[in-house]
Amino acid sequence: MTDVTAMTATQIAGLVATGAASAVEVTQAHLDRIAAVDGRVNAFLHVDTEGALAAARDVDARRAAGEELGPLAGVPVAVKDVLTTKGVPTTVGSKILEGWRPPYDSTIVQRLRAAGTVMLGKTNMDEFAMGSSTEYSAYGPSRNPWDTDRIPGGSGGGSAAALAAYEAPLAIGSDTGGSIRQPGAVTGTVGAKPTYGGTSRYGLVAFSSSLDTPGPCARTVLDAALLHAAIGGHDPRDSTSIPAPVPDVVAAAKLGATGDLSGVRLGIVTEFGGEGAEPGVTAAFNEAVDTLTKLGAEIVEISCPHFRYALPAYYLIAPSECSSNLARFDGVRFGLRTGDDGNRSLEEVMSLTREAGFGPEVKRRIMLGTYALSSGYYDAYYGQAQKVRTLITRDFTAAFERVDALISPTTPFVAFPLGARTSDPYQMYLADLFTIPSNLYGGPGISVPCGLSEGLPVGLQVMAPTLADDRMYRVAAALESAVGTLTPPTM
Ligand code: GLN
Repeated sequence: MTDVTAMTATQIAGLVATGAASAVEVTQAHLDRIAAVDGRVNAFLHVDTEGALAAARDVDARRAAGEELGPLAGVPVAVKDVLTTKGVPTTVGSKILEGWRPPYDSTIVQRLRAAGTVMLGKTNMDEFAMGSSTEYSAYGPSRNPWDTDRIPGGSGGGSAAALAAYEAPLAIGSDTGGSIRQPGAVTGTVGAKPTYGGTSRYGLVAFSSSLDTPGPCARTVLDAALLHAAIGGHDPRDSTSIPAPVPDVVAAAKLGATGDLSGVRLGIVTEFGGEGAEPGVTAAFNEAVDTLTKLGAEIVEISCPHFRYALPAYYLIAPSECSSNLARFDGVRFGLRTGDDGNRSLEEVMSLTREAGFGPEVKRRIMLGTYALSSGYYDAYYGQAQKVRTLITRDFTAAFERVDALISPTTPFVAFPLGARTSDPYQMYLADLFTIPSNLYGGPGISVPCGLSEGLPVGLQVMAPTLADDRMYRVAAALESAVGTLTPPTM
């Protein structure tokens, strides 16, 4: 059998379905790969060897019993450590949750299990999903398989690095401002942020509840679509879940793979065209635009004048929501408790726990958010940011009257060296310049590899109207059919 770790999820599922490989063999091959390379990548915070092999044995038993298996049965998946997993450590990249084993599975993880996928373990991330490089993880950064001295993006850098290092064919991320798409772009993999409410937040440790969106990561567009279909759809346990089925993203990916985009109108966001992006990124993007034209797409320029205010608005809204959401981590109910020597007051213990348990970026966000929400500043900061959010939504709505989808580079720059942006938060925040507008609006976005700049991957982002996730898969799959997938250097 050729090396299964080099295969797509679709290929692996085919092997398992026909019996050419057992789920246990497939799982063991990935566990072996993790053992061989993760010392250099640090994609995983926890590898659930026993749980994975048990899940694989279950798939093999069901197949032997003649049960009908789903399209991803037996396929290994890596899960960002922001999602609760019953009995399996869930840290959110933070010391404050070290040692916590949740008593329940998040909806996404339940659906992964129901689909017969095999969870390999939990992936590294910036603490509480705040960051763009995984350097804010309390457990050390993940590294980019393209160049292990560079960042794999963030906050879901562990999931993206696991894919690029062939440790897993599928992974789950969460995207609040770009944390699925940006790591996808800088690792040469595919990452999709579904429509807000299209994937359940039940059991997703909350950062910014009006923005947080779990979603699929993979090495191909079709694999991402299959994963999206498996995890998406209405969940009565999430009050903002959309009571509608997932658009047929798998059919859309297959349609796109035919390489025909005739009749599709794509808008290039004027405000993102070149300005703000590195020359190599702009060059790769422009080449991809030519390719999309050759595939039959009609390209127009569209101005979205308020997109330039997206970053500042996001850095008021997201910290405001986080300052409220993170109040629950106080040493009483979960994880770490510091200074509880029997003599200190409850407040002192809470304060010492939060001081010891949270890293500097999380503290910065809590302080920013508390300030923006304080009476006297509320209207000037939080209220103003909400107005900007409305204007950005109007820009999208107007744009989608003229085009089917918008395109841009996913990120302004390729993977940067570890340490290059940690001393200046603003430089780190810029990584999400092009991805944040979709979060504020709620519509879906996908990053698909579109070429290289100085030997490092560049991603193209497709943004679609809310509930039209299928459209972005069609465009992304068409581009992939022309550009091909990117293969990192052997490690
Ligand atoms: N990098 C952005 C931030 O730090 C986005 C993070 C995310 O999408 N979780 O907030």
